Amino acid sequence: MTNKHQMAQLLNNVSLRDKTSLRIGGPARVYCEPAGVDDIFDALAAARVRNDRIFVLGRGTNVLVSDTGFSGLVVDVSSAWTGVQWTGECAVAKSGTLLHALVKDAVERGLGGLEKLAGIPGSVGGAVVMNAGAFGQSVSDCLRSVRFIDLLSADVHTADASAVAASYRRTRFASANELILEATFCFAKDLASEVRRAFDEVLAKRKSRHPLDLPNCGSVFKNPPGETAGRLIEKAGLKGATRGGAEVSHKHANFMVNRGNASAADVRSLIVHVQKSVYDKTGVLLEPEVVFVGEFEEPLFAP
Ligand SMILES: Cc1cc2nc3c(=O)[nH]c(=O)nc-3n(C[C@H](O)[C@H](O)[C@H](O)COP(=O)(O)OP(=O)(O)OC[C@H]3O[C@@H](n4cnc5c(N)ncnc54)[C@H](O)[C@@H]3O)c2cc1C
Repeated sequence: MTNKHQMAQLLNNVSLRDKTSLRIGGPARVYCEPAGVDDIFDALAAARVRNDRIFVLGRGTNVLVSDTGFSGLVVDVSSAWTGVQWTGECAVAKSGTLLHALVKDAVERGLGGLEKLAGIPGSVGGAVVMNAGAFGQSVSDCLRSVRFIDLLSADVHTADASAVAASYRRTRFASANELILEATFCFAKDLASEVRRAFDEVLAKRKSRHPLDLPNCGSVFKNPPGETAGRLIEKAGLKGATRGGAEVSHKHANFMVNRGNASAADVRSLIVHVQKSVYDKTGVLLEPEVVFVGEFEEPLFAP
């Protein structure tokens, strides 16, 4: 009975291309879209039996999936594991929920704290892992706790905000040993009209600054201390630089766009080219923010 249930959940050789915002990537050898905690445990148990590596996929807006795909189990939490439960100013959001939907919901309730994260296209789980942020706010500002599964022991734990160890675009979850089930956020009772104004302003800024007409993964590199990666890349004269179908955006130098036929190897090669050129010109080594999934032949630049 249990076996039948698992077999129905797990699919073989599912292309990840259309599950990423860059529209690039090979297949997951095994793939599932859990709708509940039981489905997640079934999938993890099957992976353990097969000794498969596990990758947890959110909305795929901060990943570069290799052309050969991922040779283990991909657990896609963003398609069916969604929903938000409100109690007063606090919300418990399942990890697949779109972050923007949670933020919008808060704004409509006149609650502030994350309104400047409007328009970030990732899931709540991905946003917690990356400590996503924009315009001076980040997820950790309102995060109270995270419920997750330890992928090694399959135990469920709750980490309070301090145990999440959030810093700039980083948390304890970056090591990929955990699957975030849900996160609790508490917002501030701010002036509703102010919160709404900031939310609308941020959405307008995103539209005017980001190359949203072509597939991309947001900022490719983290900002180095006291600088922005975009400014360094622009100063190095790299706007419009290409490798195959991948291009450094003319609109925003820290974005790379897929001009239609880019491979993951093209994007990786452009990332290395940008790292090397910026390092040669400025002495700053840019660290990728984008998460690499699967195997890549070309190593990242190391001076
Ligand atoms: C147009 C555009 C604009 C963007 N603007 C911003 C911005 O302003 N600020 C910003 O910070 N980011 C931005 N991003 C990047 C991205 O949206 C964020 O990093 C987002 O939080 C990633 O969420 P995701 O669900 O897409 O994660 P994915 O890309 O699917 O995964 C990212 C990482 O999180 C892990 N992960 C995802 N879900 C879970 C889970 N439930 N449990 C455990 N691990 C998980 C993955 O394993 C991976 O390591 C932008 C991206 C795009 C395309």
